[in-house]
Amino acid sequence: MKITEHIKASKGRSLFSFEILPPLKGHNIQGIFDGIDPLMDFKPPFVDVTYHREEYVYIEREKGLLEKRVVRKRPGTVGICAAIQNKYKVDAVPHILCGGFSKEDTENFLIDLDFLGIQNVMALRGDAVKSELYFTPEADGHRYAGELVKQVAGMNEGKFLDEALENGHCTDFCIGVAGYPEKHMEAPSLERDIQNLKAKQEAGAEYIVTQMFFDNERFFQFEQKCRENGITIPIIPGLKPISIKRHLSLIPHRFHVDLPDELIREVEKCGSNKEVQEVGIEWCVQQSKELVAAGVPVLHYYSMGKSKNIKRIAAQVF
Ligand code: FAD
Repeated sequence: MKITEHIKASKGRSLFSFEILPPLKGHNIQGIFDGIDPLMDFKPPFVDVTYHREEYVYIEREKGLLEKRVVRKRPGTVGICAAIQNKYKVDAVPHILCGGFSKEDTENFLIDLDFLGIQNVMALRGDAVKSELYFTPEADGHRYAGELVKQVAGMNEGKFLDEALENGHCTDFCIGVAGYPEKHMEAPSLERDIQNLKAKQEAGAEYIVTQMFFDNERFFQFEQKCRENGITIPIIPGLKPISIKRHLSLIPHRFHVDLPDELIREVEKCGSNKEVQEVGIEWCVQQSKELVAAGVPVLHYYSMGKSKNIKRIAAQVF
C-alpha cells in the first residue's frame, strides 16, 4: 500500500513509523530483524531503509604509495526492503539517491523495486562524498532530488529513457521527499529552500519527511510556511532521541540542526550516558505527544538500529 493510502486510512490518527540503516558489510540480517521485532507491537504501516553510497578510501600498497579504492560500507538496501515486506507484511520504503547513480542506473534500480512489489520510494539527492566539499552528480545523473522525483513520476506514466519504450509498463510508486524545518545547510534561506521543496511537489512528490528537530516550534513554523507557499502534501515529522552526551556536538555538526538550551542543560547535568538516554527519551516523548495533539499524520523515528529507546517512547505515545 502507498504511504498516502496509509495516511488516508488512518482517518486522522497519527501513525508510528521508523527508519533503519542496512548493517555494516560482513554482518547478517538477523541484527535488522532483532531491531524491528520489538517495534512491531506499535503496528508501523511502513519502515524506511536508508541508502548508503560508495566512499573513497586510500590504502597504502607500498611505502608511501596510496591506492584509491571505492567501498560501500552498508550495501543491502533493496534486499532488506524485500525481506521486511516478506517477513512482516509491512511496506518497506527504500531511499533512492541522485548521488552515485546515472539516470540509467536509477531506471534499472526502480525496475528491480517494482518487480519486488515495493510501492514507495524516498527520493533524495544524497550528500557529497567525504573527500569532496560539494555534491557532484554523475555525468548522466541528477543534480537535485526534484529531477529524480521527475524520473520516478515519469516511469509511473510508462516513460523510459529509451523513447522506443514509451508505452512500457507503468510503475506505481508513491514518492516521498525530504524537508528541513531548520533549512537545508546549502540553501541560501529557508524561504528559498521551501520554494525548492514546492518544486519537488510539482515534480510528483506525494509526501514529505522532515529532518530531525528538537524544538516543535521549528516544525510548526515550517509547516505553516509550507502551507502558505502552496505545499499541500502531508508533512511527516522526523524525530530522534538523544542518547549519548556526544550528540550535543555531533547532531548539530552532522545534521545542521539546533538543540534547545533547556535540553542542552539537562544533558550536561547527566553523570552517565544512561542518564542522558533517560533525558533523551523524556524529551522525545514530550515532543511526540505535542505533535500527536497537533494532528500530524505520522511520527517517524530515526532508530539508527537502536530500538530500545524508540520502544519506550512509542509505549508512552501510541
Ligand atoms: P535536494 O532536494 O536536491 O536539495 C538539496 C539542496 O539544493 C537544498 O539546499 C535545496 O534548497 C537546493 N535545491 C533543490 N532543488 C534546487 C534547484 N532546482 N535549484 C537550486 N537549488 C535547489 N542521505 C543518504 O545518503 N541516504 C539516505 O538514505 C538519506 N535519507 C534521508 C532521509 C531524510 C528524511 C532526510 C531529511 C535526509 C536524508 N538523507 C539521506 C540526507 C540527504 O541526502 C541530504 O540532506 C542531502 O544533502 C539533500 O538531499 P535532498 O533530497 O533534500 O536534496
